[in-house]
Amino acid sequence: MNGGWRRRLAQRSVVSAVLALLLLPPGMAWGVESLKFKPGFNLFKVQQEVQLGKENAEQIDKEFPLVTDPQVLRYVNDVGRRLASFAPYNNSEYAWTFKVMDSPDINAFALPGGYIYVTRGAIMVVENEAQIAGVMAHESGHVVMRHGTHEISQALLAQAPLAILGGILGQTGSITAQLAEMGLGLGVNSILLKNSRSAESQADEVGTYILYQAGYDPHAMARFFEIIQKKYPEKTIQFFSDHPVPENRIKAVDSEIPLLGPAKEWKTNSPEFEATKERLLSLPAPPTTTPAPPPSARSSGPPPLPSSRFIRFEGKGFAIDYPDNWQVQQNEDAVALIPLGGIVEEAESGTAQAYGTSISRFQPSSSRRGNWGLIDATQELLDTMRLSNPNLRVIKQDGLKLEGRPALSTLLETDSPLQGQKERDLLVTTRQSDSLFSLIFIAPESLFDAYKPTFDAMLESLELR
Ligand SMILES: [Zn+2]
Repeated sequence: MNGGWRRRLAQRSVVSAVLALLLLPPGMAWGVESLKFKPGFNLFKVQQEVQLGKENAEQIDKEFPLVTDPQVLRYVNDVGRRLASFAPYNNSEYAWTFKVMDSPDINAFALPGGYIYVTRGAIMVVENEAQIAGVMAHESGHVVMRHGTHEISQALLAQAPLAILGGILGQTGSITAQLAEMGLGLGVNSILLKNSRSAESQADEVGTYILYQAGYDPHAMARFFEIIQKKYPEKTIQFFSDHPVPENRIKAVDSEIPLLGPAKEWKTNSPEFEATKERLLSLPAPPTTTPAPPPSARSSGPPPLPSSRFIRFEGKGFAIDYPDNWQVQQNEDAVALIPLGGIVEEAESGTAQAYGTSISRFQPSSSRRGNWGLIDATQELLDTMRLSNPNLRVIKQDGLKLEGRPALSTLLETDSPLQGQKERDLLVTTRQSDSLFSLIFIAPESLFDAYKPTFDAMLESLELR
């Protein structure tokens, strides 16, 4: 119980309080206006969003085993759709389709437009209906806050002016294909499924709100997260890689609950939930082998070819032109110029650049002795690169001049982070005061010739200071 809502009531006459309640849309009396959530910037029309979700759901349904038992499906859809009917910012276009992945893992995710998946493992570990409802309410939170398309919209905005984007997304046809054309092919799946910490807190907040409105114990969602973290730490990695844990999750949820309204007789369980669990137990065990890499590790096609229009990048001690459909990523040590979709996710090392240019400075160990040579320093750099690329092979090495300075051009072959492909790298090195200035031009072997004119033009534009 809490003082806030009581105080609010006490300040008004009973009549005006009742009137206020009547004037508000059903389900909105307490919660939404006292909470902070609101969907973020978005370029997608709801229809396009649903279409994008549908296309990706079809892909997932093809690649992952699903529970097809009608009793189980009826149950999750009954619970899920009832929850959705209490969701803020709901839209009649949303599909609200709930599916069960036939996997012992504990996981759940939502695609834009209301395509929600929970695993069989998740249903088996929850203690009651309120907890699985909590998981579905959290996922519904991602849907109505439009987290997936919000992220894509941000990525698109970084790439092109709003006016152009409006036109591109206004076309009909496959949204996934349109995004792939814009270089977001690889990005879509990973963007759609990977949530940020702030998106997580928001989904928690909205999920808790939905649970409360639907009459469930609103603590149930946070309780579920607690259970899997404590009891099944080995199974939680997958879940929390898609749903990073917001700080103080339980505390945040607990402090929200009093804002939702008075405590009620909350529903925690149902005979239907127990029957569904039993039904799942009676079905053949789920396939234990992981059938496919997670969607985020798949590339759905190469980035668009480099634009012939260039932008100037001013770095520390250098400047270079790069195609205007590439992006800049930089940290203290390096600058990467990358086409959208040019970064590939790898199982072991996180992400790797498969296309574009990487610029950095290398400190050869011989530089401490003062007098050092370009060839030896380049060799030392190659040895360092070989530590993470054991199959790195030098094809040929030539001398050249960069703005009058002696430089080395080294053509390399190695394994591409794109599965099963070879990569071609052109390493260009020159001395810049006490360090080795290096540029690496990167493309899969099959596309290197297509990228070569761009690489040459970039090198031509290089200015060292
Ligand atoms: Zn989440």
